[in-house]
Amino acid sequence: MTSPDILVIGGGIAGLSAAAALSSHARVTVLEAEEQVGYHSSGRSATMVHYALGDRLVRALTLASRPFFETPPDGFTDVPLGHRVPVLVHARDDEREALDALDAEISLFAKLERLDSAGVHELCPLLRDDARHGIADFEATRLDPHALLQGNLRQLRSRGGELHTGARVARIAREGGVWAVTTEKGDCFAAPVLVNAAGSWADAVAVLAGVRPLGLEPKRRTIITFDAPPGTPLDRLPFAKTVGDQLYFAAESGRLFASPMDEVPSEPMDAQPDEYDVALAAYRMEERTTVQVRQIHSKWAGLRTFTPDRHPAAGFAPDAEGFFWLAGQGGFGLQTSPAMAQVVESLVAATAWPVPDVAREALLPDRFLRQPA
Ligand SMILES: Cc1cc2nc3c(=O)[nH]c(=O)nc-3n(C[C@H](O)[C@H](O)[C@H](O)COP(=O)(O)OP(=O)(O)OC[C@H]3O[C@@H](n4cnc5c(N)ncnc54)[C@H](O)[C@@H]3O)c2cc1C
Repeated sequence: MTSPDILVIGGGIAGLSAAAALSSHARVTVLEAEEQVGYHSSGRSATMVHYALGDRLVRALTLASRPFFETPPDGFTDVPLGHRVPVLVHARDDEREALDALDAEISLFAKLERLDSAGVHELCPLLRDDARHGIADFEATRLDPHALLQGNLRQLRSRGGELHTGARVARIAREGGVWAVTTEKGDCFAAPVLVNAAGSWADAVAVLAGVRPLGLEPKRRTIITFDAPPGTPLDRLPFAKTVGDQLYFAAESGRLFASPMDEVPSEPMDAQPDEYDVALAAYRMEERTTVQVRQIHSKWAGLRTFTPDRHPAAGFAPDAEGFFWLAGQGGFGLQTSPAMAQVVESLVAATAWPVPDVAREALLPDRFLRQPA
């Protein structure tokens, strides 16, 4: 039996970053079902830090996370956590109103440049002529998710914390003031505090523990990679996104990647791309750019898991002592992870509240549990 102060279920970015932050206050053990960390959503993302995602609360968490990405703590990583990739949100004439509205919102958080048709095409020569308006954030960052996951793991271990992989939690019970947890292999762990950072499985983990679920909704998103036309300046290409949620694309390891920004409801699972969404990605790429997708080099899908209000949930369950929710990171879990880890630290270890622009109540799970079950 291993008995730390805090057990974390889930070795994705949510669980690892929270564990790293908590390890300066307590003995922390992370249990991850797979053989490697980041196997599910955290290893399948588009890895951007940008503001054209989510709403004001998500943007505030993103803004609060940026200093960490720019200047990680000493010893966190030997390599940069990311590199500059401009974000271009583009619009046709009929989408201009939506672009104006987004410009006003994002300008509260980032310095944007407004681009006319010539500016849009100078930044992204692949777009069709009807992309006539744009806003660009030249300070945006593309993350190295491996460096981010490994940095958190390194920090956790340097403070005496542990990670157990291949440790799928199969049984959870509250016994004698602690959470007693047993894995499928029969290993036993116990701690007074249990952090549920199981991503798409977080509701299932709650049910296993006899705790009321939040109503999380995993949604599948697909990415394809394919060759860029010869001569494409891949090293200067932005992350280019339609103002509506239809398409984004960017350079990826000498090729291009694109997503149709699908949000297909899914059970928690090892998500696989659906042929329809793969075809949709290629179709929308050809619709909005001059690129012809002749051959798909690779494809993958991952789950983005949302709470009912699409804001993350962090806080102790009101109905179960010591059971801490950390779920619903949607499509912004990497870029908000430093701030969310500090939120967890504040709620568990009573440190200062890290995001003055975000009310604690807006993140607490209680907001979903007011109605009778
Ligand atoms: C296509 C795509 C594009 C994205 N683009 C971006 C982006 O540009 N920027 C951004 O910030 N975010 C992006 N995201 C979202 C981001 O990837 C997620 O918000 C984030 O990875 C969620 O992290 P997590 O730790 O909650 O989940 P996960 O990474 O899924 O981790 C949860 C872990 O819990 C483990 N687990 C589950 N059940 C158990 C159990 N019973 N016992 C033990 N372990 C268990 C799982 O094995 C898993 O490893 C994107 C996601 C996708 C799919």
